Amino acid sequence: MKQSLMKGTPYDFFVQWHLTERCNLRCRHCYQSGAVSEMSCEEICGAIDNVRSAFQSWVTEYKMEMSPSFHFTGGEPFLRKDLFAILDYVRKCGFSTSLMSNGTLIDGGMAQRIREAGVSDVQISLDGLEATHEGLRGKGSFKRTLEGIRNLVAQGVEANINLTVSRLNMNQTGELVRLAEELGVGAIAFSRLVPTGRGKGLSSEALTREEVAHFYDELQAFKDNSKVVVISRDPLSAIADMDGEIPQTEMPIGGCAAGISGITITADGTIMPCRRMDLPVGNIKETSFRELWVESPVLGSLRRREDYHGGCESCRYWAVCRGCRAIALAHARANGHEDYLGPDPQCPYHCLS
Ligand code: SF4
Ligand code: SF4
Repeated sequence: MKQSLMKGTPYDFFVQWHLTERCNLRCRHCYQSGAVSEMSCEEICGAIDNVRSAFQSWVTEYKMEMSPSFHFTGGEPFLRKDLFAILDYVRKCGFSTSLMSNGTLIDGGMAQRIREAGVSDVQISLDGLEATHEGLRGKGSFKRTLEGIRNLVAQGVEANINLTVSRLNMNQTGELVRLAEELGVGAIAFSRLVPTGRGKGLSSEALTREEVAHFYDELQAFKDNSKVVVISRDPLSAIADMDGEIPQTEMPIGGCAAGISGITITADGTIMPCRRMDLPVGNIKETSFRELWVESPVLGSLRRREDYHGGCESCRYWAVCRGCRAIALAHARANGHEDYLGPDPQCPYHCLS
């Protein structure tokens, strides 16, 4: 997902923290599947200390230069009454914060509080033009989301749009980029649909590998010619953009962040490689994050080329890609296997490598 492990650049590590599973919307493609008991504010601050001590040991023991950030989301994070206390705690620890939200609860007053809390950016989910967005997220949600974005922009908070690409919206890119320009957001980011949680019901809308190749080829033109930053956090998109020499190493240096440069913590403290990869590896309330990061067999296997099979292990893009492990897992589960190291079924590039 990020080119974060290149020599000479800080280790750009992120913690994606789902503070609650509660949400004021009920999106058809949401990867969440049920309610859990939430950690209290005190437990969360204790868990932040747990993660912070791992970062400190990496810096002192391995002389690593780090640039860690905490991305808070939900459910809908604004449903947590103690959200700003948590943000304040993280900021005092010296880490940057961002929020991921559906935008519908961000009125002018909330946007002002976000600015005052020093949040570096707010990522707002949008799923297409009005009819498409509301088909997935419910009637009236499009206008409320756009209002939330406008309120952030009016307060000078960096707002970015996140869009999950499927057949439902793959032909709307031009209009969505123009909308992003009009709204004055910092960036519009595209990622693939992961058919997990409630998103399983949309499996038939996932792109084929040919459609993925076509989509990212087209996206390149928007990246080159738009007034807004157009990006994708999908490893396959990074390949579509690549020219020149492909770094050949046995160490991941970019691509899928799961277990490499990012981790997810859910509302009850469960740790997963990625939120879209529903594969618990421990719980922050019970385990030291530092120990888990080193000793988890799942996290370890995500870092070892020889553990991959079905394509990625022999691909020259392995170090910078590895596909989306969440999509690989969802695909395997749909076929009755519990396998997160097999092929990314939407990859159009392996045959070219
Ligand atoms: S086979 Fe495809 S998904 Fe896997 S590393 Fe190569 S390009 Fe990426
Ligand atoms: S599993 Fe997929 S969604 Fe998660 S970090 Fe990797 S590429 Fe991104």
